[in-house]
Amino acid sequence: MPIKAIPSRRRLLLLAGAALGTSMLGGIGRLALADSDDDDSDNHYEESANTSFTPANTGLNARIVVVGGGMAGATAAKYLRLWGGTGLQVTLVEPAARYTSNIMSNLVLNGSRNIATLDYGYDSLAAKYGVGVKTARVVAIDAAARTVALSDGSSLPYDRLVVAPGVEFSDAYGLTQADYATRTPHAWQAGPQTSLLASQLAAMQNGSFVMTIPKAPYRCPPGPYERACLVADYLKTYRGAGSRVIVLDENATIQAERETFSHAFGVTHAGVIRYEAGVTGIQIDPVSRRVSYLDAVGNPQVIAAQAVNPIPPHRATGSSPGGWLAAAGLNNSADGRWCVVDVLSYESTAQAGIHVIGDAASCGLPKAGHVANQEAKICADAIVRLLAGQQPDPAPVANSACYSPITAGTASWLTAVYQYDGANRKMVLAANGGNTVGATAIESASVSSGNFRQMTTWFNTLMGDSFG
Ligand SMILES: Cc1cc2nc3c(=O)[nH]c(=O)nc-3n(C[C@H](O)[C@H](O)[C@H](O)COP(=O)(O)OP(=O)(O)OC[C@H]3O[C@@H](n4cnc5c(N)ncnc54)[C@H](O)[C@@H]3O)c2cc1C
Repeated sequence: MPIKAIPSRRRLLLLAGAALGTSMLGGIGRLALADSDDDDSDNHYEESANTSFTPANTGLNARIVVVGGGMAGATAAKYLRLWGGTGLQVTLVEPAARYTSNIMSNLVLNGSRNIATLDYGYDSLAAKYGVGVKTARVVAIDAAARTVALSDGSSLPYDRLVVAPGVEFSDAYGLTQADYATRTPHAWQAGPQTSLLASQLAAMQNGSFVMTIPKAPYRCPPGPYERACLVADYLKTYRGAGSRVIVLDENATIQAERETFSHAFGVTHAGVIRYEAGVTGIQIDPVSRRVSYLDAVGNPQVIAAQAVNPIPPHRATGSSPGGWLAAAGLNNSADGRWCVVDVLSYESTAQAGIHVIGDAASCGLPKAGHVANQEAKICADAIVRLLAGQQPDPAPVANSACYSPITAGTASWLTAVYQYDGANRKMVLAANGGNTVGATAIESASVSSGNFRQMTTWFNTLMGDSFG
């Protein structure tokens, strides 16, 4: 995609963040945000693109299969070709012809976005970077033979495998997968459930919209609170003062942007959002939409809801007992839900030669699309170095950046920089200057329309870097 305007210094920083090596990325991403103020309305280009980069022949030769064409897998496939060169045969295996972005999908609920605007294809990865795209699902991994079996009956050999299959959702609260698909959508994987939830919201009269939040770790820490704000904004704008959004959080407290969301719940959407932390024993009747639970002090409560949006507990796709990822022994976290990796290379600590990135990985970073993009680059860089007989970068840096709409026209932001702690072999939050003691994620000082405009710039840049 062409860049529509002459880049400003901030745009150049963002574009450089998309194009440079991993150890630069965290710092540059952080700089890009630090360079902007909370009300920067400078937003004139649509998508970044690395059109001037053509894979070279680096002399490296290897077959690499990437499983999953989401935020992590698409980025990894692209950067493996960019950095590894034409000798790397990179095959991306993805069952869907096109990807629907979760990021921004809460804006479909209030009608701000059409879901078609969240649609991304794989044509650029194939045409510009020479990634082979195979439309199929991985059904088994043979780690000893170094092959993956696909749903079309074929198999692919690999020298290195990158696994990025995202998450699957557990049956919970008395609900099944069929309930999520047809009656009580979680919409935590953007697509038909997002549209279903939007239509249920649009059909509400004065009444209660009940949503639930699972115990961390879950995908996109600020996402549920952002959704509560947008639904509240929609209901009070279009349905009057009698509507309520009731947030039942299984966590003890708000999991991200605590100051921002406390203010949003208590002031911006006061009287509309009721936030309850520390709830247990949630049960949902998908037909009557009756929700029962125990509040934080153990008292039983019942709500007759007009719409119910359960966000169920989730886990790495394929990690349920009998699943393909479990069969390969990759889900080696203590609870069997996630894949533990060496954060220098994202290589599984259970299976040599297999790397796991994105939401499926357990690596100390938040489960987020921006982070998945960063993990993919650290992983791609490490694979290229390993193929060249070198060691992975010993000091990777990653950054997390996220904007959260609070109303239909305003947003906040959150950013954090993570760096490698060699003593503990973990990624840890870093403060300015690299001091990790007391470091925290940084929230925007205010909620503003300028942030909302910048959110679009950030989103387009991120998606352009992953798919463009
Ligand atoms: C409502 C919402 C809002 C969000 N907002 C933000 C935000 O503002 N900022 C942010 O950074 N993050 C946000 N996120 C989180 C972000 O979307 C995820 O963290 C990100 O998509 C994770 O990337 P991934 O590649 O691991 O998984 P995905 O993007 O889900 O991709 C996984 C891919 O793997 C494929 N796959 C699955 N199984 C197989 C198989 N067997 N074989 C082959 N392919 C397979 C799937 O089809 C899918 O395409 C949000 C999430 C939600 C739900």
